[in-house]
Amino acid sequence: MSGETETFSFQAEISQLMSLIINTFYSNKEIFLRELISNSSDALDKIRYQSLTDPSVLDSEKNLFIRITPDRENNILTLRDSGIGMTKADLVNNLGTIAKSGTKSFMEALSSGADISMIGQFGVGFYSAYLVADKVQVITKHNDDEQYIWESAAGGSFTITRDEVNPSLGRGTEMRLFLKEDQVEYLEEKRLKDIVKKHSEFISYPIELTVEKEVDVEVSDDEAEEVKEGEDKPKIEEVDDEDDKKEKKEKKTIKEKVTDIEELNKTKPLWTRNPEDIKQDEYANFYKTLTNDWEDHLAVKHFSVEGQLEFRAILFVPKRAPFDLFEGKKKRNNIKLYVRRVFIMDDCDELIPEWLGFIKGVVDSEDLPLNISREMLQQNKILKVIRKNLVKKCLDMFAEIAEDKENFDKFYEAFSKNIKLGIHEDAQNRNKLADLLRYHSTKSGDEMTSLKDYVTRMPEKQKNIYYITGESRASVENSPFLEGFKKKGIEVLLMTDPIDEYATTQLKEFDDKKLVCITKEGVEIEEDEEEKKAREDEEKKYEELCKTVKEILGDKVEKVVVSNKLTDSPCVLTTGQFGWSANMERIMKAQALRDNSMSAYMASKKTLELNPSHPIVKALESKVQADSNDRTVKDLTTLLYETSLLTSGFSLDDPSDFAKRINRMIALGLSIDEDEIADEIIQDAPAADATETSKMEEVD
Ligand code: ADP
Ligand code: MG
Repeated sequence: MSGETETFSFQAEISQLMSLIINTFYSNKEIFLRELISNSSDALDKIRYQSLTDPSVLDSEKNLFIRITPDRENNILTLRDSGIGMTKADLVNNLGTIAKSGTKSFMEALSSGADISMIGQFGVGFYSAYLVADKVQVITKHNDDEQYIWESAAGGSFTITRDEVNPSLGRGTEMRLFLKEDQVEYLEEKRLKDIVKKHSEFISYPIELTVEKEVDVEVSDDEAEEVKEGEDKPKIEEVDDEDDKKEKKEKKTIKEKVTDIEELNKTKPLWTRNPEDIKQDEYANFYKTLTNDWEDHLAVKHFSVEGQLEFRAILFVPKRAPFDLFEGKKKRNNIKLYVRRVFIMDDCDELIPEWLGFIKGVVDSEDLPLNISREMLQQNKILKVIRKNLVKKCLDMFAEIAEDKENFDKFYEAFSKNIKLGIHEDAQNRNKLADLLRYHSTKSGDEMTSLKDYVTRMPEKQKNIYYITGESRASVENSPFLEGFKKKGIEVLLMTDPIDEYATTQLKEFDDKKLVCITKEGVEIEEDEEEKKAREDEEKKYEELCKTVKEILGDKVEKVVVSNKLTDSPCVLTTGQFGWSANMERIMKAQALRDNSMSAYMASKKTLELNPSHPIVKALESKVQADSNDRTVKDLTTLLYETSLLTSGFSLDDPSDFAKRINRMIALGLSIDEDEIADEIIQDAPAADATETSKMEEVD
C-alpha cells in the first residue's frame, strides 16, 4: 500500500513553461539527458560536501553514481542517482510550486528566438524531461525524510505520494520518464552512449548505463539445464576457445540475456591533464558540462601554480552575459572549488571578486583541508592567494582576447560593465583594466577607440583626455558642450553607460593624462596666446552682463562666466568639478531609494557659461548696457537658463512654468492678438505674467 496521494498545482508560469515545452516543435530533444544528469551531479555534489564534515551521511548509500537504465518493454527511461535526494518539502518547492525568475526570462528568451537547449542556464532544466516524456515520476529519498513519489503528466498539476510499496532507494533520486511513443530512440544503447559522450563526458561521477547482453552460455550435458550465470565476461572468453574444447568434451551452448553495467565517462579530470595534450573541443565540451551553456566558450586559460602553494585551474570566458548577470548576489556554478580532486563547493564568494562574476571554471587546490567549512574559507590565507592569482590570470586572458578584434568586440559587448566595475573596485588592477576600455568618440565613427589610441591622436598642445557623459549616444553627440572641441578638432570620448560615471571618477587618469569631464566647470580648451588674450578681453567686456544675469538667476546658479567652449549655442550649464555631473544627477534621481541628504551637497551648483560670440548674448549685453533693470532681460535670461538646463542634460524643476513661457513665445511668433494671449494667461497665471507678455513683444 502507498500512502495518501496529495495533489498540487504548478505555479502558473511553470505550468505555462511545461505546455510550451510539450507543444513546441523542437528537434534537438536529446538535451533533456544533459539536464537530468546535471541535476544528479549537483545532488551528488551536495551529499559529498555534507560528508566532508559528517561521513555518516553516506551510510544510506556508500557509492556515488548516476545510472541510466532503459526499459524497452515498457518504454521507460530511468535515471538514478545516489545524490542528496529530496525531502517531501523539497519536492513541493523545487519541482513546481515556487516561482523562479528564470521561468519567465526563459519564455521571453524563447519568444525572441532563443533555443530550448538554453533551458539549463535559466535554472529550469528539470522540465526538459517533458521534451521526451508525457509522464514523469521522481522517486526520491533524502536522509531526513521518507521515500516519496512525485508524479505529473503536466496539465497544471502534480501529485506526491509516500512510497510505502518499494522504499528501496537508500538515498538519492530516481527519475522515471514514460517516453512519448515517438521518442523511444532514447532507449537505444548506442543513442544513449552518444548523448552522454557528447554532453556529459566531464561529469565527475561515474555515469553508468545498464546494458543488456546476449551471451552464449555453455552448459555441459551432465550439468543441470537451468544454470544461472552471473559473470558473463569470463564465459565469453571460453566461448572463443569453443572450437578447441568441442573435441575434448561435448558441451551445449545456449543464448542467455544478462544485464551488465558499463561506465560511460572514464576520462580523468581535464584540469589534471597537460594543457598541451588537450584539444579545443575537449575544452569546449568540458565548458558546456560545467556551465550548461549551449555554445562554446570565448576564451580559456588552463594553468597550474606551484611553489609555496599549489593549485590547478581552468578559467573560461563565455560568449554572452547570462540573463541574470547583475541580479542579486546569489551566484552558483561559476567557479567550482575542488580539493585534491574532491568537489567542495561551487558558490565560494571568496574565490573571485564580484566584478569577475562572469568567469566560469574549476580550481583544484592541493593545500586546503578537505573538511573546510564556509566560515573557515572567509579568512583563509590560501584562498586569498588563489584569488589573487585567478584575477591575474583573468587579466592575462582578457589581454589575449584583445589581440583578436572580432573576439574582443564580442567580449566587450557582453562584459564591458564588468570591466568598468573592476576599474571602480580593484585599485590594484585599474590601469591594466583601463587598457581594455573602448568608447565611441567624436572622431571614431562607428568603431570604438581605446584610450591608448585616443592618446596617440592627441595634438601636442592637448594635455587632457576629454569625455562627456549622457543618456544616449545621440544626446551626447549633439551636446552644446562639444561645440568648441569640434571647432578646434579636439577629440572627445562619448560615454553613455551609467557605470562610466563611477569608473571614470575612480580612474582619474590614463597614461599620465587627466580624464576631464567637459560638462564640468573649469574646463578650458587648450588655447594659444592670441586666443587667451581674446578671451580675457571678452571676459572684461561681459563682466557687467555676467553680474546682471547672476542677480536675475539668484540661487539657481553658482556663477555666470564667459566661455570659449561654445560656437552655436548661446550658453550651457556646467557643474562643479567634484560634484555630480548632469548625467550623474539624472542617474541618482532615477534611483528610487536614493538618499536625499546626499543629493543636497553632491547635486552640485551650476555655472552658467555664456557664449560671447552668440547674437543672443550680444543683444542681451547691449540691453544690459542700456538699462540693467530692463524687464525683458529678466524674462529672456530665465528662458535661456531653462533651455540650457535641457541641452546640458538636466531636467526642469518646473516644466509647466517653462511651457507657459514657451507658449507665449509661440503665440507671439504666430502673431496672435495680444488680448487673446492676455486672456489665456489671466486664466492660469498670476496677473504679473500678463504684463510680462506685453513686454515680451519688445524683444523683436
Ligand atoms: P537547477 O538545476 O538550475 O536548480 P532544475 O530545474 O534543473 O534547476 O532543477 C530544479 C531543482 O530540483 C534543483 O535545484 C534541485 O533542488 C531539484 N532536483 C532536480 N533534480 C534533482 C535530483 N536528481 N536530486 C536532487 N534534487 C534534484
Ligand atoms: Mg538543473
